Amino acid sequence: MKLRTIEKIIKPGTPHFVGDGFRVHNFIPGTSTMKRMDPFIMLDYNSKYNFPATDKPKGVGVHPHRGFETVTIAYKGRVEHGDSAGGGGIIGEGDVQWMTAASGVLHKEFHETEWSKTGGEFQMVQLWVNLPAKDKMSPPKYQAISNAEIKKVILPNEAGVVEVIAGLYQGVVGPASTFSPMNMFNLKLKKGAKTQLTFPKHYTTSLLMVEGSATINGAKVLADHFVLFNSDGETFTVETLSDGIILVLSGEPINEPIAAHGPFVMNTQEELIEAFQDFNTGKFGYLE
Ligand code: MN
Repeated sequence: MKLRTIEKIIKPGTPHFVGDGFRVHNFIPGTSTMKRMDPFIMLDYNSKYNFPATDKPKGVGVHPHRGFETVTIAYKGRVEHGDSAGGGGIIGEGDVQWMTAASGVLHKEFHETEWSKTGGEFQMVQLWVNLPAKDKMSPPKYQAISNAEIKKVILPNEAGVVEVIAGLYQGVVGPASTFSPMNMFNLKLKKGAKTQLTFPKHYTTSLLMVEGSATINGAKVLADHFVLFNSDGETFTVETLSDGIILVLSGEPINEPIAAHGPFVMNTQEELIEAFQDFNTGKFGYLE
């Protein structure tokens, strides 16, 4: 199998706040484009940040989405979600929330009330996964995926564990249901672990160094850095320089036109206008 080479290693840029609860570095589209990263169209990374105690939970108030899925992966802290389709819940360390906005929802995302009272270190990823045109107007859906439900593959030589959120790793299938083929793993590795990952060559493939540092194909990658791979081979190698956590994303490009504006990601301008009209006329439902 051929080596999948690195296109670029991206350092975390200047963070910005989403609402008042998420202090994020944007990596997708970031220095790239939605089309290049297809099917992963947005990735905001709240690197470790200390939120002080408060009685008024911080977060993002009610806002709409249509045409894609929002996936929140929690590393530290706890968040509470609710949407107009009745989906919602609380996720904490190691859990994943997978919301399919599809035809449209209103939702809100806040630090959990109890967690807010003590505050502390907060670290999460929010990822937007595009939907194929045929699924963009399907009914909304909500998957709460606790860490206990995430499939774990123990690596040999006490190298660590691969948590399979979605897709397939060594015959083990992750719990998240997806609309197009993709793999989403958290690699929780010990210092000195050596492993390699293999995906179909044409899959858009990237990783985020959530914790620790590693060499990827021999290149040193520090914490909070993002690695984008070329689609020129199947396999890349990982060798950790410390204990670490690596989020790996690899998905088959949907290869359809992308028309995006704010919280809506459709295929054409006409569909974007329709999304704004439907939102403005209350067709996304109601959420307090
Ligand atoms: Mn949202």
